[in-house]
Amino acid sequence: MLLGAIADDLTGATDLALTLSREGMRTVQVVGVPPEGFTAGDAEAVVVALKSRTIAPQEAVSLSLAALERLRAAGARQIVFKYCSTFDSTEKGNIGPVTDALADTLGTQITIVCPSFPANGRTVYHGHLFVGDDLLSESPMKDHPLTPMRDSSLLRLMQAQSHRRVGLIRREIVAAGPQEVHAALEDARLAGNGIVVIDAICDEDLRTIGAAVADLPLVTGGSGIALGLPANFRRQGLLAPPATAKAFGALAGRAVVLSGSCSKMTREQIRTAVHAGMPALKIDPLQLAGGDLTPQAAVEWAIATKDAIPLLYSSADPAEVQKAQNALGRERAGALVEAFLAEVATALRAQGFSRFLVAGGETSGAVVEALRVPALFIGPEIDPGVPWTLGIGMDQPIALALKSGNFGGADFFLKAWDLLK
Ligand code: ADP
Repeated sequence: MLLGAIADDLTGATDLALTLSREGMRTVQVVGVPPEGFTAGDAEAVVVALKSRTIAPQEAVSLSLAALERLRAAGARQIVFKYCSTFDSTEKGNIGPVTDALADTLGTQITIVCPSFPANGRTVYHGHLFVGDDLLSESPMKDHPLTPMRDSSLLRLMQAQSHRRVGLIRREIVAAGPQEVHAALEDARLAGNGIVVIDAICDEDLRTIGAAVADLPLVTGGSGIALGLPANFRRQGLLAPPATAKAFGALAGRAVVLSGSCSKMTREQIRTAVHAGMPALKIDPLQLAGGDLTPQAAVEWAIATKDAIPLLYSSADPAEVQKAQNALGRERAGALVEAFLAEVATALRAQGFSRFLVAGGETSGAVVEALRVPALFIGPEIDPGVPWTLGIGMDQPIALALKSGNFGGADFFLKAWDLLK
């Protein structure tokens, strides 16, 4: 294992894991702090997914330090702390306190802050974070319910959260190349800065920065910061050239689609799949509340689809969702569906199903928890942002594609399987 990463949420962790995997590192994502005695197996990068973005700063620090300890024990040579590319945080944290704690524990005098993610329109210029054409403070992030971002200066934002002095390396230096950035980092350290915000407006900048921070024990940023890090290990002869054959070997067992996502894209994916002849069973929370549909009945239906891939979905349009929520309450409606799909997944697993495509972020969380999947090996990307993963650390590995609501093309439920053949 070469690189260890700590991400402050689940989908952010997958995003980072995918970036590392695309850059040719065998990458495993662990859900929560790894257990004591954790080993990385043949993984070259391990991404720990925490849920620490908006919890109390002290709690975020202690979870992050626990993850750090396990990653170092497993052999990590460099640590990445990954947060959102819109720097989602409050005045108290948690980006500053976690960065300070990780840097102090690793004994490093300096680290970098770089949330830039140009592919998604997030860029940093002269220390200010842009979302598309707007400053962060003028983007929709200004009204975020949990972490409203009302300032775009990363220096001010970070200085308010950190006890280290925060400096800046401007784009002009980044454009000059890795050696200049390396020298500027050293100057900043000698000037008494413990954290440096670095400008980056394109992927090339991120690769330059990646090369310049090869010897830093800690790097912090959005998933974009991982673009340039694998190449450092490759230069040192520690990492093989990027592999070309990326498909998983065939996993024996049947496949199923479980969808609890009501997002527009997911509903279109369902229409497309049904139109193409995929057998489908619609699940209504009102039916579940009344006991009119049991998990056993749904499982029997799925098994009876024989050679086909069955689709079980509760996905509904806003009017139907509203109706269920009016009758049951928002939380109960959601919880009924999540528990139902999770139970169906567990029962199908026991019946030999081994390939699960799950639509919905919360739904995926419920299914992964019910199936007791401790870690996910990142496989081939089906559509931008959604890879096949291999659930590992279980009796028998299973293939999981976890799709958050708006991701994937219309034919996602149909075409995903081609990568498993
Ligand atoms: P997405 O990624 O699209 O946001 P999630 O799974 O994260 O999907 O969230 C969808 C939520 O809606 C889940 O909690 C799910 O249980 C709930 N849900 C699914 N179907 C229905 C329905 N028909 N009525 C009410 N709530 C539903």
